[in-house]
Amino acid sequence: MRTFVDPEKCLGCGVCEGIAPDVFVLGADGIAAVQLDPVPEQYWEDTRQAAADCPEEAITIEE
Ligand code: SF4
Repeated sequence: MRTFVDPEKCLGCGVCEGIAPDVFVLGADGIAAVQLDPVPEQYWEDTRQAAADCPEEAITIEE
C-alpha cells in the first residue's frame, strides 16, 4: 500500500496523525506528510481509517 496527502486539500487538522502517527506527521508547514512509503501492512487498517476520517478527503490510498 502507498498513501498520499494532497497538500492543496489538507488543512492541517491533525486527525490523520492522531489515528496513524507512524504513517502521517504534520510538517512545519502545517501540512500532513507521509513518512512511510510503502506503508507496512501493520499500519494498513489505521491508514484506511485516517483516509476515511480526513475531513477534507485529502488522503488517497493506492493498494
Ligand atoms: Fe490534513 Fe486530512 Fe490529515 Fe487533517 S486529516 S491533517 S486535513 S490530511
